[in-house]
Amino acid sequence: MGFLAGKRALIVGLATDRSIAWGIAQAMHREGAELAFAHIERMTDRVVPLARQLGSDLTFAMDVASDEEIARGFEHLRTRWQHFDVLVHAVAFASREALTGTFIDATSRDGFRVAHDISSYSLTALTRASLPFMAGRAAAVITLSYLGAARSIPSYNVMGLAKASLEANVRFLAADLGARGVRVNAISAGPIKTLSAAGIPGLRKMLGQVAAAAPLKRNVTIEDVGNAAAFLCSDLAAGITGEILYVDGGYSTVGMSFPADGDDQRS
Ligand code: NAD
Repeated sequence: MGFLAGKRALIVGLATDRSIAWGIAQAMHREGAELAFAHIERMTDRVVPLARQLGSDLTFAMDVASDEEIARGFEHLRTRWQHFDVLVHAVAFASREALTGTFIDATSRDGFRVAHDISSYSLTALTRASLPFMAGRAAAVITLSYLGAARSIPSYNVMGLAKASLEANVRFLAADLGARGVRVNAISAGPIKTLSAAGIPGLRKMLGQVAAAAPLKRNVTIEDVGNAAAFLCSDLAAGITGEILYVDGGYSTVGMSFPADGDDQRS
């Protein structure tokens, strides 16, 4: 029996079979969870067959930038599920302009607002909407962050600020909800080539630098992230909340990386 047997998970942010949400969905399904998926309207044709592969016919469109769509989405969910145990928030957005060029040149008031609204506020909104379904259960919320929350990274720009906000969001939600039995954590994943990440100029260089410098000497996969997320949302992680868990091959722990027998010994 899997370690998520008897649990139900709502997964928000599946787009394609390269999505981190797909890695998470596969791991949670393998461990016995029953799944529902909320996605943006234009991804319906991709999400429905993926959900079916994991035995789920519970999929619905929901734009997290709209309070009305969130309310409608959870009302629809209520017609099938009276309770669930896990919320997966795998959603982020910044305009291409906001991710092109330097941070100081590319960051507009509107770009800042949109990135923070969709990538951070939506966690607060979706967690609030999930609470009635989680009452009296050992429940867990998980979101996805990136190293740009804590370090400057070329082209990541305003998304780094939005991820810093998201990580603070995790800590404040964890503090509010711990007494109700709801744990809230984030995974800070290393770079992975997904639909969203493909919009970040320099992704190839990011992948190359991580593979060269990370202790594990490789990039992480959606399976690596999915397995860690499944664990964090299971009762095996009952003592963990408010945490940012790095699943990045150890990259964030390295100060510098170069061969120990480098040229400078001779100069
Ligand atoms: P993805 O493109 O597969 O997923 C992003 C999802 O966000 C998509 O399903 C998209 O439809 C959804 N989304 C965007 N705006 C939305 C809206 N208004 N309403 C509802 N959904 C909306 O890419 P991904 O890389 O799997 O991204 C998932 C999460 O992982 C994001 O938070 C991303 O920042 C984070 N992350 C990604 C990487 C990476 O390198 N790929 C690294 C660290 C963290």
